[in-house]
Amino acid sequence: TAQIIDGKALSKTLREGFKTRVAQLGAQGVQPGLAVILVGDNPASRVYVGNKVKACEEVGVRSFHVGLAADTPEAEVLATIARLNADPAVHGILIQLPLPAHIDPRRVLEAISVNKDVDGFHLYNVGGLVVGNTIFPPCTPYGVQLLLDTTGTDVTGKNVVVVGASNIVGKPMALMLLQREATVTICHAKTRDLAQHTILADILIVAAGKPGLIVPQMVKQGAIVIDVGINRLRDGPNAGKIVGDVDFDGVKEKASWITPVPGGVGPMTVTMLIENTLRSAERALRMRQADDYQDWEAPVIHP
Ligand code: NAD
Repeated sequence: TAQIIDGKALSKTLREGFKTRVAQLGAQGVQPGLAVILVGDNPASRVYVGNKVKACEEVGVRSFHVGLAADTPEAEVLATIARLNADPAVHGILIQLPLPAHIDPRRVLEAISVNKDVDGFHLYNVGGLVVGNTIFPPCTPYGVQLLLDTTGTDVTGKNVVVVGASNIVGKPMALMLLQREATVTICHAKTRDLAQHTILADILIVAAGKPGLIVPQMVKQGAIVIDVGINRLRDGPNAGKIVGDVDFDGVKEKASWITPVPGGVGPMTVTMLIENTLRSAERALRMRQADDYQDWEAPVIHP
């Protein structure tokens, strides 16, 4: 039976380390700051934003919570971002998705300074992933990479199958592993015969949002299985329970390592958001000390 990859424990260790970095920045007169913009009052988004703010405070990162009404015009959201881009107390800017329908998410994401794009969703950072030189890796795949590292596995040449091809998880995950010279297959909802691909995976990463999608027959003996899915069961005997995309009880008998849900990838996402915010603050300080403001200024990117 598989060993458990404990994301909660790794998060805790990393967050302890963050306190030291916050203190080091503090000694140089910098308190790292993260601005979180929430447009509207989607209840799930509110919970996510609350978790991010709380996690920041626990390690000494200052949080700026900007709540905007659901009918805020796009121009006003862009003006808010421009203000935060110019604010030296803010090292990271995050806009909670999804946005109300009248706001173009791409336009908003592209307005964030690439130097403060701690979610890594700006085209500049996305492009950086393609060429293996991103400033801020997106948080969820970044967290998965650290979880994989804890197993001591070298991914070079391994068969990695990523199930899910979203812009925030599947695609960047695949690019990060390709950069590490894994042999990467990306599967998605249109993939024919999913099992034919997953059965070859030395490392199987699942981010589809479909409970029970991955059953033991689809998993190679000894595979490492990372379950990114977070699903709340609607009905059945376990209604209300949070589960991943993998049949955990079945698959753990075949895998060598497996992440639980909850307590696997989930806690790592917020941890990596803080990592990126600290890195941004350290980077800004370095640039300032090198008197290299010019370099630090955001490249101008035309839409
Ligand atoms: P998404 O809906 O944007 O993308 C889902 C992807 O899975 C798509 O590419 C789709 O083609 C594919 N897919 C759907 N059904 C499939 C099937 N039957 N077979 C193969 N592929 C299929 O979702 P997302 O934002 O990438 O999130 C995926 C899951 O991960 C969700 O459960 C989400 O809640 C969870 N998630 C968790 C974290 C975390 O912190 N742990 C972060 C982000 C997302």
